[in-house]
Amino acid sequence: MNDRIEAIILKADPYKETGGLLQVFSKEHGRMTILAKGILKGNSKNAASVQPITYCHMVLDIKEPISLLHSASIIDFYRYIKEDITKLSVASLICEMAMQVSSPYQPDEYLYEITKEALTAFNSYPPMLIGCLYVSLILKEMGISPMVDGCVVCDDTKVSAISVSEGGFVCPRCARNVTSKAYDANFSRLFRYAVKAEWSNLSALAKQGEYTLELLAVFVEFFKDYTSIPLKSWEFLRKL
Ligand SMILES: [Zn+2]
Repeated sequence: MNDRIEAIILKADPYKETGGLLQVFSKEHGRMTILAKGILKGNSKNAASVQPITYCHMVLDIKEPISLLHSASIIDFYRYIKEDITKLSVASLICEMAMQVSSPYQPDEYLYEITKEALTAFNSYPPMLIGCLYVSLILKEMGISPMVDGCVVCDDTKVSAISVSEGGFVCPRCARNVTSKAYDANFSRLFRYAVKAEWSNLSALAKQGEYTLELLAVFVEFFKDYTSIPLKSWEFLRKL
């Protein structure tokens, strides 16, 4: 068989005594589960190549539901991510989300591209900014983007708070009747920019101001509220 792919390793779990079960994301095949036999043996030459958040070249037998790895070599280890706990935490969130929203063996070129570009962007942009834009784009893809052109309840253009349950900005009057949290104008402005942005707007977004963990938390809250998908990496990241 000997198929060849380039893929991002999203997750790696131990399998039996010395094996590894990988979740990888490739352009041509989408998310795949790959069995890497003997990967944890001391002398395995593939061991370093199959860590999460690594971009590799792989030779394997592609088979649903589980493909079989023959060999792997690193294209990009993303060292700059692994040397920084904040970057690593946000990158882990991105990989977990990519895993949750992708379908097995279904190519999703857009999701693949933004995931790959997000990991590369950690070399030049603040991690929280990358996280905010990535989660915002995921929400957009799923059709659950927050409403940020006026109050989501009454259309009033004067807004003062964000309501996750209502799906976006709310005005001071409506804020009293729904579950919402008040934010200052700068916070709301940055939130709105990230909701409106595409991946290509990353550098323009960086000039708007500082994207914080608190902003990322609002995006993640939207994701969790609408999908009910638990995000393990977020539980770690939010405590940073
Ligand atoms: Zn209103």
